[in-house]
Amino acid sequence: MKYKIKKGDQVEVISGRSEDKGKRGEVIKVYRDKDRVAVQGVNLRKKHQGQIQTQGRTMTPGIIEFEGPVHISNVMLVCSACGEPTRVGVIREDGKPKRVCKRCEAVID
Ligand SMILES: [Zn+2]
Repeated sequence: MKYKIKKGDQVEVISGRSEDKGKRGEVIKVYRDKDRVAVQGVNLRKKHQGQIQTQGRTMTPGIIEFEGPVHISNVMLVCSACGEPTRVGVIREDGKPKRVCKRCEAVID
């Protein structure tokens, strides 16, 4: 298991841009080859979108906001049991790797 963070996890931003530090959100995408994740509401960027063709219609969405990727080392998993950002350990249970909270030792998966 290379990554201890996966899509759908709650994470807290622990470093990086000051306006994002301390923010919590759900991981909406993992960029495996780039060691980055996109987190809901974090590192918001605006993109000017020109006209796009969709199903034969032309749409002009204007400015769209999207979550830019943040480096995986800048976020910490929030334990669902104790609610704190935590380091993640891995144990084997029935031969399968499971993530555990290093604070409260609850199994996260
Ligand atoms: Zn915990």
